[in-house]
Parts: sequence; C-alpha cells; structure tokens
Amino acid sequence: MTTITRFAPSPTGLLHLGNIRTALINWLYAKNSGGKFILRIDDTDQERSKDEYISQIKYDLEWLGIDYDETFNQSSRFERYKEQFEKLKSDGRIYACYETPEELERKRKLQMAAGGKQVYDRSALKLTEQQIKDYENDGRKPHWRFLLQTERMKWNDLLKGEIDIDLTSLSDPVLFREDGVPLYTFSSAVDDVDYNITNVIRGDDHTSNTAVQIEIINALDENKISFAHHALLKASTGDKLSKRDNVISIDSFRKDNIEPISILSLLATIGTSNSIELKSGIKQIIDEFKLETISTSPGRIEIDVLKALNKKQVQKFDYEEIQSRLTEIDENVDKKFWDTIKGNLETVEEISSWTDIVFNSKPAESDDKDYIKLALELMPEEPWDDDTWTTWTNAIKEKTGRKGKELFLPLRVAFTGLTHGPEMKLLIQLIGRDKIVERIQT
Ligand code: GLU
Repeated sequence: MTTITRFAPSPTGLLHLGNIRTALINWLYAKNSGGKFILRIDDTDQERSKDEYISQIKYDLEWLGIDYDETFNQSSRFERYKEQFEKLKSDGRIYACYETPEELERKRKLQMAAGGKQVYDRSALKLTEQQIKDYENDGRKPHWRFLLQTERMKWNDLLKGEIDIDLTSLSDPVLFREDGVPLYTFSSAVDDVDYNITNVIRGDDHTSNTAVQIEIINALDENKISFAHHALLKASTGDKLSKRDNVISIDSFRKDNIEPISILSLLATIGTSNSIELKSGIKQIIDEFKLETISTSPGRIEIDVLKALNKKQVQKFDYEEIQSRLTEIDENVDKKFWDTIKGNLETVEEISSWTDIVFNSKPAESDDKDYIKLALELMPEEPWDDDTWTTWTNAIKEKTGRKGKELFLPLRVAFTGLTHGPEMKLLIQLIGRDKIVERIQT
C-alpha cells in the first residue's frame, strides 16, 4: 500500500515554524517511503479564510522545497460533504439540535456549577415533533450533531503509543452549522477517507479530535488510517505559538534572508532525540528522517539557534553557488571579496554593508588623527599581497612604539568605520591604496 500523507493548513494566517514542522514531518514520512504527499487547504470557514494566505502557504512550501503531489481546497467539496452527511443521517448517526449558543453556554455553566462533565446533554434527541415545529416556526434552523456511540476510543498512536480516550467525556460533535457549512471535524474525516490517507501526523492538540474522527471515519467506511501526534513546538518563553506571532512566520524569516536549509535543518531536528545541526541539503534530511525520533515533549524555538545555523550555512557557500545573488547586490563582489567577508556575515544579504565599506568612500572620524597621518606616510606602494599588512604595521610599530590593540584598532576604525570585521591583511587588499588615502584625507 502506498503511503499517503497530507498537510492541512487553514488559510487564516501566515504559516509559522510549528505549522511548517508538521508539513515537513508529513512530507518526509511520504518521501521516505516512496509515497505521496497532499496539500489540503482547510477553507470551509469562508469568512476567516483568505486567498492571500493560500498563495502564501503555497509560496512558503515551494520556497522551502516541500513539494506536493496533489492539492485541493475543501471549499470545492461542499457537495461531497453534504452527500456523506446524508448517508450518516439516513444511518441514524446525525441529529438536529436547536439550541442557541447562549442556551448551550447556560447549560455548560450549570454543569460546571454542579461539578459534572461539561458535555452536551443530548436533549435534542428527546424533542417532540411539536417542539421541533415550534422551533421551526420561530425561524430557528438546526445545527447537526454526530451521535457518538463508542465509550472508549483506543488506538496505537505511532508517536504516543497506546491511547485510550473516554468518549463519554466529549460532546457529540457538530458536523454542520445552521447555515449549512460543514465543520472541520467532519470535512477532514471525509477527505481522509476519500483521498486514501494512510497516515495522519499532526500536533497533539488534535488527539481528542482523532478519537471523534475515528468514530466518524468508521461510520463512513472502515478506518485504515494510522494516527500519530507530535508535541507542539513552543516559543522560547514556553508559550504556545500563534499565527498572529509574525516574528516566527516563514515569511518573516524569508524577509530576514534566512536560508531555507537553515530552517529545514532546525525543524528536522528540533523536538527530536537528535542534536540540532546544519544539514548538507534536503537529501540528507530525507535520508536521516525517522518518525520515532520525534519526541513527545515540546521543543522550544530559539531564534538564536536558527541564526547560528544560518551563519554556518553562509560560511559554507562557495562564491559560484550564490554568484548571481551577490552580483545583484553589487556587481563588484567577486570571489575574493566573498571569501574575505563571508566569515563576518549572518546572512548573505548582509554583504551589502561591506560593499558600502569597501567600495564607497566613507569618511571615518578618528580621534587619533596624528597617528593615522603617520600610518598613511608609511603605507607601502601597490601591488599589495597577504604580507603587506604585516610589513606596514611593523613599520608603524617601529616608529611609534605602539603594539596590540593600540596599534591596530585605530587603523581598522579609520579604514572601515568599525571596530570589528574580517582580517585586515585581506580587507586592505579589497579596499586598495587609493580608497584608503581618499578616506583618510577627507
Ligand atoms: N486545519 C487543521 C489545522 O490546521 C488541520 C488539522 C489536521 O491535520 O487534521 O489544525
């Protein structure tokens, strides 16, 4: 049997690291077993779903290199949901309810006060024909619940092991709203059956949904799906991740010029029993993937770790690999420039601050003017090579008696405007004699 997994985001916001991790796990699970991966857009809630988020989700996945074999929107399947709903209804598994949200809330509060389970009391099942007529005459439209029949739902979760959920502690789920819109619990179950999904892997916030959905799936067909629930990632503070938290959206990392491989490396290892490290590419991530290494306790996202992985990746780039990106930033960036500067960059695009320093004449104010003037007098003629800096600073040292920081730092500041950066012996070769003279005399 071919493995078929799916990623089912609701297009109500930008994807964040936690969402993408679920996508990645499902994608890797399918890839690893030569299976199929489906992107399902959960857009039944048309008020909250936005087309711009759908495009963004697809763009994020493409940018990260997570491809899918098939995609569809739930909004295109309303007829199918209705059809399956009618089937369950004629099987006696669905019943109409007329309570308003306020009435339901009152019942819940009473149950809470009485210290009992806060579960829908199924009073709709006891309505007489006359009561139903009265509701209808009042203009009330029913919402529809699924009648749960199993007391305990058990399954062998591929990540959490044996699960045993008391379904009597859960309310009969609403499958259709009074306005005829199907709800996630139902549409997802119908799709998972119709698309022959073999493995549903999702966050452990869905564990009780699974208990309910298995019963719905069994009412539609025979359940052949294996479920796995992973712990959700948390923010470094330990808080839940939220779609409103734009700081950890894939879009924000792309805008910050973080490389896809840095994000994938983090997500492939965070919250697993393996250590976090930069991977050589997507192939390594696929080859190494093992579902069972995913931990059932939540991983925390440390943005500094992502930045450190990215810095490592930047250092790994050969000039040729990113030549077009570099020359787009500044056509003067050549291999020598890249090799000299890359050790100081956290992102490739940060090179632009160095093209500014090297190519543009930026006067640097020095409080050590006489010293710099003297250094200038001793500056060797070109051509310069890797020994020029030592020859030059030795001469300055001899003349002034300065050494260490006192000798070097004022020069670095005068030539670059910064107190840190690449090795001066390389950097001065990039800047060149004329620029240094020009810079100091202005
Ligand atoms: N749209 C649901 C969500 O984003 C999908 C959950 C699932 O994988 O079934 O939580």
